[in-house]
Amino acid sequence: MAERIILHVDMDSFFTSIEVKRNPGLKGKPVVVGADPKGGKGRGVVSTCSYEARKYGIRSGMPISKAYSLNPNAVFLTVNMEQYFHVSRRVMEILRGYCEKFQQVSIDEAYLDISDRADDYQAAEEIARRIKAEIRQKEGLTCSIGIGPNKLIAKIASDMEKPDGLTIVRPERVEVFLAPLSVRCIPGVGPKSEKVLKRMGIGTIRALAKADLQELKLVFGKWGYEMQRLARGIDEREVRERGLAKSIGRERTFEEDTNDRGVIMKTLKELAEEVHEDAIKRGYMYRTITLKVRLEDFTTFTRSRTIERHTTSIESLGIIQELIEEFLDSKKIRLLGVRVSNLTRQHDKQKSLVEFKDYP
Ligand SMILES: [Mg+2]
Repeated sequence: MAERIILHVDMDSFFTSIEVKRNPGLKGKPVVVGADPKGGKGRGVVSTCSYEARKYGIRSGMPISKAYSLNPNAVFLTVNMEQYFHVSRRVMEILRGYCEKFQQVSIDEAYLDISDRADDYQAAEEIARRIKAEIRQKEGLTCSIGIGPNKLIAKIASDMEKPDGLTIVRPERVEVFLAPLSVRCIPGVGPKSEKVLKRMGIGTIRALAKADLQELKLVFGKWGYEMQRLARGIDEREVRERGLAKSIGRERTFEEDTNDRGVIMKTLKELAEEVHEDAIKRGYMYRTITLKVRLEDFTTFTRSRTIERHTTSIESLGIIQELIEEFLDSKKIRLLGVRVSNLTRQHDKQKSLVEFKDYP
């Protein structure tokens, strides 16, 4: 494969920054965007928070009740998705103008393959600076950019100097750049893989790159091989526009089959919240909501409902609680699933999905 130059652009605490821009009085304050904390009793999680809020240990993905206990005086705002979709759309349009190959990965993140436009890393750096200036000037927002020979390196690099960062990793520096980092910096290495690797005496990417491949394969299977390739900085994935995801869902199997209404409702609520958070993070609105129920005798049912217009409202997932009713007085339930489909990243329903997919 010819040498490539890839950018990863990641908006800095995107939702929060939009809120601060709308209300400059919030500048410099700890701002948390997410579920309603309800005085510490609220459910749901933090979507994003300002860098000031992070100083209190608040993080995205954390339960909102925990964020509240860390700093009850922070400014808590509920998610204003329609607004964020508008801004996201404009930012993505700006980014598309800088490359031939473009891939939006979430509401505030994208890869750009600029190999055709930049002969070397100096030219790439100039492009990155222009991108940052244009986004700042037009939207009043900052982003962090990583530049590297592939998506993996660009992605890790964009996270190095947040906020308003620009990190360039030339091919000859890849090994040195990766070596001291934790294995957790590799996409796909979560807490589970990390734990197993730790037991094998592997904590850094350097150690993973040098580890015995047979041993890795024995423990992780094919993933062991892939993990080591990533640790060596090898990533041949192309930057290319993907179609929209078809659906987003979560399922849970009970340890013991149950017909306890309280347990069932609580589980559905949790599943709905997880699906909702995932949809928001990935920048999707949805129209169809599906419940899946598997009974103790393994018969499986699905029930769907399509609402009038695309939404990101968590309240819409209350439909699940209506759909479950017919199953509550029957046999015990073994598995529950919640799924949303009919997805779009557009705020405006009039603009069809085709526009998104056909973009060059
Ligand atoms: Mg971001």
